[in-house]
Amino acid sequence: MIIRGYSIIIIFVVLLFGCESSKKSVDQVGNRNSKRTITVPSFNRDSAYYYIQKQVDFGPRVPNTYAHKACGNFLSDKLKSYGAIIQEQQFAEQAYNGEVLHLKNIIGSYNVDVKKRVLLAAHWDTRPYADKDIEGRYEPIEGANDGASGVGVLLEVARILHKNEKPNVGIDIIFFDGEDYGEHEDIENVPMKNGLVQIWWCLGSQYWADHPHAPKYSAYFGILLDMVGSRNARFFKEGGSMQFAPKVVEKVWATARSLGYSNYFVNTNSPGIMDDHIFVNRDAKIPMIDIVEYDPHSPSYYFGNYHHSKKDDMSIIDKQTLQAVGETMLYTIYNE
Ligand SMILES: [Zn+2]
Repeated sequence: MIIRGYSIIIIFVVLLFGCESSKKSVDQVGNRNSKRTITVPSFNRDSAYYYIQKQVDFGPRVPNTYAHKACGNFLSDKLKSYGAIIQEQQFAEQAYNGEVLHLKNIIGSYNVDVKKRVLLAAHWDTRPYADKDIEGRYEPIEGANDGASGVGVLLEVARILHKNEKPNVGIDIIFFDGEDYGEHEDIENVPMKNGLVQIWWCLGSQYWADHPHAPKYSAYFGILLDMVGSRNARFFKEGGSMQFAPKVVEKVWATARSLGYSNYFVNTNSPGIMDDHIFVNRDAKIPMIDIVEYDPHSPSYYFGNYHHSKKDDMSIIDKQTLQAVGETMLYTIYNE
């Protein structure tokens, strides 16, 4: 995900208008009118951390590499082993530099017969360049937080859905590919495609929004996770989410607050960014929010100093942050 995209997001607006169980009940998280009492299963931070480590162990998950292919197979197999109905979308897409990327979106569905659905997503590819570093700026990053953290939290959600009573809603987990293959920071003029302005980021979500995995697919709402694992992370109410899906933001932030996680889910707005949720909102018309770290004091603007850097490794991942995000996810979906 990029911040350069903030200027692009403004263009969009113009165009548009132009087992284990905590035994806490959902009533405790605000649904006080409900007569049902649902047991929300516990989120296991160690398990989520393990899934992040597993991805990092493959090496950088850069499209057209062996590590990318091997990790993609691992993610599919893992979702399948947790009882999800799997669909893989394989497609080829041109990158900003003319290279043809072989990409794969991975979709795992639960409660497939239920009409009311919630979409949970993260990107599983990693940035081919550490272009915010001073040295090695054309070498790939490990992407422990930028990529693997969101996927790790969602794999743990999948494990829990498999082991416990399902929520009332259907759940679709999508791992988008090709999110982070945008142009290198050194490139001053973003290349066009067939004479048109092109967004070279978020290739998987752009593809999926044009080719949903099920005919006439829709979801009640969606949540995107990106960079949700670093120590002392702060999630602000991101501008694109507030533009497209303010009610979903309020719902999720209220849930986090009721669980005691207001220190992570900050009650303040942040600027909008280009990320996969933009295409799910704009093209697939599904109100989707982005839970993404924002650091107002960061020297690299918006993100922590690990962003698109070799610093983005396991040493910055903190289990307490994973717990805050994962528990908030579970309480949100079991409360529907
Ligand atoms: Zn990124």
